[in-house]
Amino acid sequence: MSMLRTFVRVAYAPFMMLGLTGAAYWVVVNGYSYFWLAPLIAIAYATAFAAEQIAPFFPEWNKHAEHGDTSANIWHTVVYEISALNGVLLIPLIQWMFPYQGIWPSHWPLWGQLVLAFLIADFAFMVIHYASHKLPLLWRLHAVHHGVGRLYGFNGVIRHPIHQAIDMIIGQAPLVVMGMTQEVALVLGFVITVTLIVQHSNVDQRLGPLDGWLAIGRVHHLHHVNWGTEGDCNFGLFFSVWDRVFGTFHAKPPRPIRYDDMGVDELPHFPKSYWEQLLLPFVYKPGAGEPRRYREPKTAAQVARDHLDGHGLTAAE
Ligand SMILES: [Zn+2]
Repeated sequence: MSMLRTFVRVAYAPFMMLGLTGAAYWVVVNGYSYFWLAPLIAIAYATAFAAEQIAPFFPEWNKHAEHGDTSANIWHTVVYEISALNGVLLIPLIQWMFPYQGIWPSHWPLWGQLVLAFLIADFAFMVIHYASHKLPLLWRLHAVHHGVGRLYGFNGVIRHPIHQAIDMIIGQAPLVVMGMTQEVALVLGFVITVTLIVQHSNVDQRLGPLDGWLAIGRVHHLHHVNWGTEGDCNFGLFFSVWDRVFGTFHAKPPRPIRYDDMGVDELPHFPKSYWEQLLLPFVYKPGAGEPRRYREPKTAAQVARDHLDGHGLTAAE
């Protein structure tokens, strides 16, 4: 088991980022039906869940029944993937509306265009992510991603659909307007999905010399802690380079991170239902504490204690 665990720790990220992305690229470049990307996405999720069982950071994050959020997370995944596909299908329409294609190097080989598109998208996502933590309006939407009390394979795509649309419009629309082809956009969308899975999965990844240069693994745990604003760092999607440039990179947490340190401190009763999570940005006011509708109903003992407190007594008396 220990050899298998070591293998998974080392091979997980390369298999996902290079192996599966390579397969997606092969499907597109050889002109096969785009339908074949769907089973590759399914393999990505299945690999993440298998690897989480073999080499988890925290076994507690794998207790799906205890967390009770599986149904909401499946909804998020389906909505995220359909929205991403819709974005790609809209590309011909957008390019018809903005027929300016003078910048995009469409004469490059497809892999070169893909690398360029990923580097630009990685930077754009980092900037939007930074803004999502600094601007209260965006934070309300982004809090849906942060509210979950654990990290695992599905977490990356747990996003409010409005926030996902903002991500796509700011992160990818400029590429589309420059003339990025539908083929490149399709593989780019695939890589972004796989990156989000790898970034959030509960797999104790060993990154070797790339440790500290990628925004995946333990570095991203610090971004998700529920310690006030201490997680306002490590905003990168895949590379940590931009965080280093902007001074927001923290390689190590100020104290050890425990399995129950994930979430938003203001939202200790973050809702488990998909529909309540969609509603959250409209009832949650950053800085005003937890919305009343998410607070746990008081127990009989708490009600009695409050009653005694109201009479200047304490429960002990
Ligand atoms: Zn964030």
